[in-house]
Amino acid sequence: MSTDCVFCGIRDKKIPADIVFEDDQMIAFKDITPQAPEHLLIIPKKHIRSFNDLSDDDAVMLGKTFVKIKDIARGLSISESGYRIVVNCNGDAGQEVFHLHVHLLGGRKFTWPPG
Ligand code: AMP
Ligand code: ZN
Repeated sequence: MSTDCVFCGIRDKKIPADIVFEDDQMIAFKDITPQAPEHLLIIPKKHIRSFNDLSDDDAVMLGKTFVKIKDIARGLSISESGYRIVVNCNGDAGQEVFHLHVHLLGGRKFTWPPG
């Protein structure tokens, strides 16, 4: 829990967001600055600062989150065309919000390697 964390604020419904899925462990909402026609962020409800801060206790939750992302992608009709799942960790990856989140991007063609 972090009182100045924007994603905790979204979890607690203190900051508005376009939520597309929520259960007891995760929330998926639209990125405020979409980088693709479909761009969602999927966060654990638990405040985890970054990918580095995951513990063994988070393994089941994180596994369920990734399996759910597959269903969310199908709901967005991007399963067949394709999509990208991204987790930025710390400075070199450009992490800006320090509450673990998974980007789900689709609806256009992506290049590799990423920038
Ligand atoms: P990252 O660089 O991986 O930390 O990505 C943070 C993402 O959070 C960026 O894509 C932002 O556009 C997004 N973001 C920041 N604030 C909000 C917000 N209030 N609602 C939705 N998305 C947000
Ligand atoms: Zn948080």
